[in-house]
Amino acid sequence: MFLNLGELFSISKSRNVLFYSRQTMISSINLFKKEIAIVWKDNTTSIFKASTLRRLCPCALCSGETDVFGNQYGGINVPENKDVSIVRFEQIGYYGLQFYFSDGHKDGIYTLNFLKNYNET
Ligand SMILES: [Zn+2]
Repeated sequence: MFLNLGELFSISKSRNVLFYSRQTMISSINLFKKEIAIVWKDNTTSIFKASTLRRLCPCALCSGETDVFGNQYGGINVPENKDVSIVRFEQIGYYGLQFYFSDGHKDGIYTLNFLKNYNET
């Protein structure tokens, strides 16, 4: 019994560390009708159009899969859909966000590093 308690304690301790590191990355997320704004802990803000995120969907269906040699298989060019919106989103672990789009698609997991470094051109 005592050992189990010790294990529980170390698990919650490491979770606190992960939670802290997550907290250093995202300050807040504001979902609007056609856009989403991510405020980072470094006081920068990234604003994404829902249509842009939909087009950039990183799931295997939309973006294809790459083998260890860099060969790409599958993937489609997701057409621009200006009417698409983000219905809701979920945090995936400590590294990513999953967006639920109004067209029913929700398979892509967008890493926080990708979102932080993406510059719309
Ligand atoms: Zn996709």
